[in-house]
Amino acid sequence: MAHLSLNLLPAPPGAGASCVRRVVKKNACQACVEACPLQAIAVESGNVVIDERQCNQCGRCLFVCPTDALENIQPVTRHWIDDRLVAPLSLQPACVDELLLWHFEKGIRAIELDGEQEGWLRAVAELNGVLKQLNQPTWWLAPPSDGPVNNARRQWLHLRKESTSGAVAYGRRALRDNVTNCHRYRVVLTAEHCYLCGACARICPERAIRLHSDHFTLDNARCTGCGQCAVVCFPQAIRSEVQWNTDAPQRLPVLPSTCNCCGQAFTAWDAQQRTCPFCRQHRHGMR
Ligand code: SF4
Ligand code: SF4
Repeated sequence: MAHLSLNLLPAPPGAGASCVRRVVKKNACQACVEACPLQAIAVESGNVVIDERQCNQCGRCLFVCPTDALENIQPVTRHWIDDRLVAPLSLQPACVDELLLWHFEKGIRAIELDGEQEGWLRAVAELNGVLKQLNQPTWWLAPPSDGPVNNARRQWLHLRKESTSGAVAYGRRALRDNVTNCHRYRVVLTAEHCYLCGACARICPERAIRLHSDHFTLDNARCTGCGQCAVVCFPQAIRSEVQWNTDAPQRLPVLPSTCNCCGQAFTAWDAQQRTCPFCRQHRHGMR
């Protein structure tokens, strides 16, 4: 019997193999740590650790992770009627990234609030600021159609029969895939510092950077801002920035070349470039 009850324990929350910190040790991603309102997430010896006793499964960390790495945490179930979120709302307001997904994925345009829910009012104000940048209709505040709600009992009562219950997809990938008219991240390359070694293209989990024999492509529409490209770039030539934009993919011409030092084939910006990235790094004592 003791054996059976042990097996029934839910798996503890944590960060799985796709956490950027586990893929590249030097990545200092703190997105989940900063999103947690209860300080339940910490970084210990470079790894994300979640204190199960502190975590109340609010799900905020899920929406900021660039690689869907968080495990055994579920997004909050919410309730809606037509295009309105309705009570019972969670005591902890949703983060803006989650509200954006309600806007784009479920077509929500309003929320029923009774005026005492300051955290939710701030969250909707912040959401509306982002929606304006995206040329989207802003949300309006509707009074609760069944009267004021007792805060202490909000979680358990007032689930209306006509409402639908569920959750949105979560994570920066879901937001990227739902917000199709605008991109949240901009991949910035300083071409004069770039050796075209291809490290960023190999590490990018979203294929936002691609290096071919005749062109180098940077695609903001795919980037989730995980930061891996910047971490692996020795000359610090590439990074991603948070900046809503509508840029088309950049397609930069490159060409195949042969290194004068080692005789290996490599990719060059122009015909004058005759030393491969590895020989250049060797010259700088980095090989
Ligand atoms: S947000 Fe995701 S990728 Fe970043 S540290 Fe947390 S689990 Fe890892
Ligand atoms: S371009 Fe850079 S920041 Fe964006 S997803 Fe790829 S590796 Fe991450």
